[in-house]
Amino acid sequence: MLRGQLFIDGAWCAAHAGALMDVIDPASEQVFAQVASAQARDVDAAVRAARRAFDTGPWPRLSGCERARVLRAMAVALREQLEALARLEVRDNGKPLPEARWDVGDAAGCFEYYAGLAEQEDKRGAEHLDLPDGRFSSRVTRQPVGVVGAIIPWNYPLLMAAWKLAPALAAGCTVVLKPSELTPMSALELVRIGHAAGLPPGVLNLVTGLGATAGQALSEHKSVDKLAFTGSLATGSKVMQAAARDIKRVSLELGGKSPLIVFADTEIEQALEWIMFGIFWNQGQVCSATSRVLIERPLYAKLLERLAQEVARIPIGSGMKEGVLLGPLVSQSQLDKVRAAITRAVQEGASLVSGGSERPPGCGDKGYFVAPTIIADMRLDSWIWAEEVFGPVLCVAAFDSEEEALRLANDSRFGLAAAVMSRDLERCDRVAAALQAGVVWINCSQPTFCEAPWGGFKQSGIGRELGRWGFENYLEIKQITRYDSRAPWAWYIQAGQRD
Ligand code: NDP
Repeated sequence: MLRGQLFIDGAWCAAHAGALMDVIDPASEQVFAQVASAQARDVDAAVRAARRAFDTGPWPRLSGCERARVLRAMAVALREQLEALARLEVRDNGKPLPEARWDVGDAAGCFEYYAGLAEQEDKRGAEHLDLPDGRFSSRVTRQPVGVVGAIIPWNYPLLMAAWKLAPALAAGCTVVLKPSELTPMSALELVRIGHAAGLPPGVLNLVTGLGATAGQALSEHKSVDKLAFTGSLATGSKVMQAAARDIKRVSLELGGKSPLIVFADTEIEQALEWIMFGIFWNQGQVCSATSRVLIERPLYAKLLERLAQEVARIPIGSGMKEGVLLGPLVSQSQLDKVRAAITRAVQEGASLVSGGSERPPGCGDKGYFVAPTIIADMRLDSWIWAEEVFGPVLCVAAFDSEEEALRLANDSRFGLAAAVMSRDLERCDRVAAALQAGVVWINCSQPTFCEAPWGGFKQSGIGRELGRWGFENYLEIKQITRYDSRAPWAWYIQAGQRD
């Protein structure tokens, strides 16, 4: 049985009163680890350590180049331990091993990328402003925002930690990280790696624990300067309310119900590939999953038929098994939610083209498996068309004009991502410009790059992660303005009076 403790002020420690929680392998339903379950007083100790490290420790005072050395060492260690970390992630989350390997590689790439931005920040220095009043000179500097409370979900445990830690640490912030209670294991390893790479005590603290206990205590803590949250809309709203009490900085990456528009001139095999990847990778537990596919009428019947054929052939099983493309969902409760969503859709009149709420055949009797599911003929005001399922469930509808496709695509309270496919690139550009989403893919769906901003319009969140925008999340901007003239300001001393 694996064990995990909290990491506070550079040392591993038990939670208050020895509180523990079980970690379950979603493929076998077996408890394979026990980790500390942080209580409010543990979170307080972690935040105090981060506060001290920020206010008096070396980390925020190092140059960007010095911080970059530590981040690069973390990236090297991630790559060296890639296979072991990927296997741990599969046990914790259930995803297929090749996808877990991508995640670890991407996490390493994220630390390298922000190491580069930290180095550039040194070169960039202060920005001097050209003011119209020549008596003044003004410069703009940027400094770390302070203590960051980072709260992350279970769908990409290591990668979501990297998306927050890499820019925050590069900027010179100190962090308290709260992973999901469902998937705490890779965060323990990441913290170990950070410590070995040379992060000073208190710079990176880990509080594994329950959302309603550790997560809430972190978001409400008065000594936290910024909350960086990824998760559901409901929890995001609570985090924002907690932030509002002390005017903490807050960035939110929330859910989505992202559309993929397929015009009839799209090559059918290309459409199949991106539709399937767009909704079924990571078992559909992806905030940007293109879970609503809109197909132009002339292609609709043929594409739907081909989709049903291909989806039935997706290999399902333990993420550790060679060739598996769809692993189990993360937990019993996620499985229950996804099954309930499918049942509700059918009860409300939608047709099941493929899959369904029954246990898929050939998966044994253990593991949180659900078949990849396609739903059609739903009402466009139904629950399944509007709400995020966060599982391998695709809704498909037909459209007759570009205008109608855009209207249907944008008719959502979410606006995280969207995609459009057509051979007519001018049309793609026109549609991309009109889609209400923070990320738009043309002739693909889902590829994500460290360099490009990530985040949503509307209720999909506030702020952007990744790229230089993600770095700025963790920086405060300061203007320093100097009066260079000897002449009096002349508000109460009149000109000429001083001499
Ligand atoms: P939750 O909102 O339930 O949890 C997210 C994190 O918040 C977890 O660490 C959770 O802890 C914690 N948490 C729970 N309750 C509180 C609270 N009261 N105060 C502070 N923290 C709390 O989301 P899920 O983990 O279920 O993740 C799935 C959701 O996340 C989906 O809706 C998905 O769209 C969204 N998501 C968005 C992404 C994006 O980039 N936009 C990326 C990934 C997911 P615990 O797990 O221990 O309860």
